Amino acid sequence: MSSRYDTAELNRLDKQHFTHPWTIFDVFQEQGALPISRGDGCYIEDSNGRRYLDAVGGLWCTNIGLGRSEMADAIAEQCRKLAFANPFVDMTNVPATLLAAKLAELAPGDLNHVLFSCGGSTAVDSSYRLIQFYQNCRGKHTKKHVISRKNSYHGSTYLSMSIGGKAGDHPPEFDFISDFIHHISCPNYYRAPAGMAEPEYLQFLLDELEQTILRVGPDNVAAFYAEPVLGAGGVIVPPAGYHQGTFDICRKYDVLYISDEVVTAFGRLGHWFASKDVFGIEPDMIITAKGLTSGYQPLGACIYSDRIHQVISEPGHGRCFAHGFTYSGHPVACAAALKNIEILQREQLLNRVQQLGPYFQQQMKTLEDLPIVGQVRGMQLMVCVENVRCKKTKALFPEELDIGKRIADHAETLGLIVRPIVHLNVMSPPLTISRSQIDDIVATLRKAIELTINDLYAEGHL
Ligand code: PMP
Repeated sequence: MSSRYDTAELNRLDKQHFTHPWTIFDVFQEQGALPISRGDGCYIEDSNGRRYLDAVGGLWCTNIGLGRSEMADAIAEQCRKLAFANPFVDMTNVPATLLAAKLAELAPGDLNHVLFSCGGSTAVDSSYRLIQFYQNCRGKHTKKHVISRKNSYHGSTYLSMSIGGKAGDHPPEFDFISDFIHHISCPNYYRAPAGMAEPEYLQFLLDELEQTILRVGPDNVAAFYAEPVLGAGGVIVPPAGYHQGTFDICRKYDVLYISDEVVTAFGRLGHWFASKDVFGIEPDMIITAKGLTSGYQPLGACIYSDRIHQVISEPGHGRCFAHGFTYSGHPVACAAALKNIEILQREQLLNRVQQLGPYFQQQMKTLEDLPIVGQVRGMQLMVCVENVRCKKTKALFPEELDIGKRIADHAETLGLIVRPIVHLNVMSPPLTISRSQIDDIVATLRKAIELTINDLYAEGHL
C-alpha cells in the first residue's frame, strides 16, 4: 500500500472516507491522522518511515509486540487450512474448540465455558444476553438490572456504552439505556472527599453498592460489572479490600459479579487474569478481548461459570440460547489466540511483567516532581499520568485546553506514543518492553510535559 500511496494521498483518502472512532470532525479535517504502516516489537513506523516507541501497546492490546513472523505463519496456515466454518449449533472448528478448552484451563475457579465474540464490546453485549437468559431460566424474571461504575469503560455498542460510565462518552447527541443500568461511584481515592481516610472511603464505596442494590431491589439486580483496574477511566486501582468487599455484597444479594478483563488479562497485570491472582476473587464471568490475540486478530470472549452453565443447559428443558455471531469462534482469530498464548507461555512474559512492572511504576512515579503532574498511578504495565492545574487543590485545566492531547502531540514529535484522555495520559506498553525502553518512555514523556508547561506559560495559562 504505502509504496503506491504517498502520505499526502493517504491523508486525503483517509479524511474523505474513514470515519475514525472518537473523531472531532473539524479538528480531524484540519490535522488528519498519522498513517501507521509497520510495526515491530514495541515500535511502530509511519508512512514516511519515522519510528515511534508505542507506549500504548496499540490500544492496550499488543501484549506480545508487533511483527512476529510466528503469528503471521499461524494466521496464514489457518487461512489456508480453513478460513471459516459455521459455528452454529452442530458444527465447530478445531482452533475454537482448543481455545475454549485452553481458556477454561487458564481461567480461575469454575469458569469453564466460553462464549466467543468479535471483540470486547460484543463480549459485553453477549454477557448481558447470557445473564438475562440465565436469570429467566432460573425463574428470576425481574432480575434484569445492572450496576456499574462512573468512569468505567465497557465498549461502544449501544448496550456496552450504556453500561460504561464515562461522562465524556455520554454526550447529548447520543441516547443511552438508563432504565435498567445504575452507575455508582468510581473507586478513585485520589478524587475522594478531602480528608477522608482510605478505609473510610472504602466503606463509603461498599455502602453505596449495597444501598443501590437495596434501592433497586435485590430481586431486580442481575449483575455488577467491574473492570479490576479501570482502564480508559484513568488506570484506577481501587482501594485495598474493594474487590473482596464488592464481591461479598454481590454474593449476599444473589447478584452476578462480572469482571471486565478486556484490558487486565493476558499478562497486563502479570497474570492470565487479574480477578483471582491479583485481587483474590472468583467472579461468575470474565470478559476478555485485546491481549487474547495481542491485536493480531479481532476476538473477544465471555468465560463463565459451571453454575451459570448448569442452569441454562439443564437437561429436559430443550432450551435454545438464541444468540451468536457468524464469526463466533472464528478459526483464524482462535488460531491467533492459541499461538499468542503459546508465546506468552514460552517466553514467560507474565513473569517478566511481574519483574519489570514495579520498575515501570517506580520510574513513572518520578514524573510527580513536575508542576502539572498531580498523580502517577497504576499497576504493573498499566499507568496513568493525571495532569492538573494546581497540585494542591487538584483542580483541572479547562477541558478545551486538551492538556493530555498537547502532551501526547509533543511526545509524538519526540518519537513516543502516549494516549491522551482529556487531562490524562495513559500507557500500556507491550509486555516485551525492556528496561532501557522504559527509561526512554519516562525521559521522553518528561520532556513532552516540560514542553507543554512552556507552552502553557507562553499562552498565559500558568
Ligand atoms: N471493556 C474494556 C474494559 C475496554 O477497555 C474495552 C476497550 N477499550 C472494551 C470493553 C471494548 O472492547 P472493544 O473495543 O474490543 O470492543
